[in-house]
Amino acid sequence: MGKVAIVTGGTGGLGTAMCLALADQGRTVVAAYYPAEAEKARAWQAERKTEGYDIAVYPVDVTDFASCAALVEQIETELGPVEVLVNNAGITRDAVLKKMDKTAWDAVIATNLSSVFNMTRQVFEKMAARRFGRIVNIASVNGQKGQFGQANYSAAKAGVHGFTMAVAQEGARNGVTVNTVSPGYIGTEMVMAIAEDVRAKIVAQIPVGRLGTPQDVARTVAFLTDDDAGYITGADLYVNGGLYLH
Ligand code: NDP
Repeated sequence: MGKVAIVTGGTGGLGTAMCLALADQGRTVVAAYYPAEAEKARAWQAERKTEGYDIAVYPVDVTDFASCAALVEQIETELGPVEVLVNNAGITRDAVLKKMDKTAWDAVIATNLSSVFNMTRQVFEKMAARRFGRIVNIASVNGQKGQFGQANYSAAKAGVHGFTMAVAQEGARNGVTVNTVSPGYIGTEMVMAIAEDVRAKIVAQIPVGRLGTPQDVARTVAFLTDDDAGYITGADLYVNGGLYLH
């Protein structure tokens, strides 16, 4: 018990690798899952057990401030103080702007950007009072360079790093670091669902010559959440194989 880390969207493609990396770091890990997916989360948890990992699963709707407050309260009561928060939950609702409806805009902003406020607001003051905290926000290369057909997602992910830079300054004196990780194309289900010829064109543009792995991203998260990583704050770490640099 203790040294608690929360990963939102923890049962997803990248979230799973993050949970394992944080557990390897000696943390008590909570994979927070979307409330409607309780059965899936329990099956996920059982699968982790067979791999030798004991990961707690708790429900949260990251778009709902009250749900985030309830999650953190329950975790702090049952497991102990939250030391690490990884804001990883996210969705896409792609469309070119002339076809993007308000529902798609609102859903992506709520799930990818407002969620970061909703969760961070619950833990930030407590971390500051305890003089230790590690917050990592998962953005995207598409928030850095913009992406055709993703005005909502690009705006949300760019906003995430603005949040990171502001809150990093507020946490710095109290041992709370806040950083962004911006993955490029990672070989999760979402990316593997892209037609093979299109995927080959994407890979051809990646200097490293391959898609990223969930472990590539998870290792970066674990690096930033390490007890010793206190001098890195407000940064945006690129995990994109050299695809985009600035
Ligand atoms: P997944 O879809 O596998 O994971 C996203 C997770 O977020 C899912 O577990 C999903 O739960 C959860 N989630 C969605 N909405 C909510 C909500 N309202 N409340 C709580 N949880 C929610 O995607 P990835 O693992 O690929 O992506 C993880 C993060 O990495 C995202 O922020 C994504 O934007 C970012 N990213 C991914 C890249 C990639 O190549 N895969 C590249 C760049 C960035 P459920 O499925 O049960 O709804």
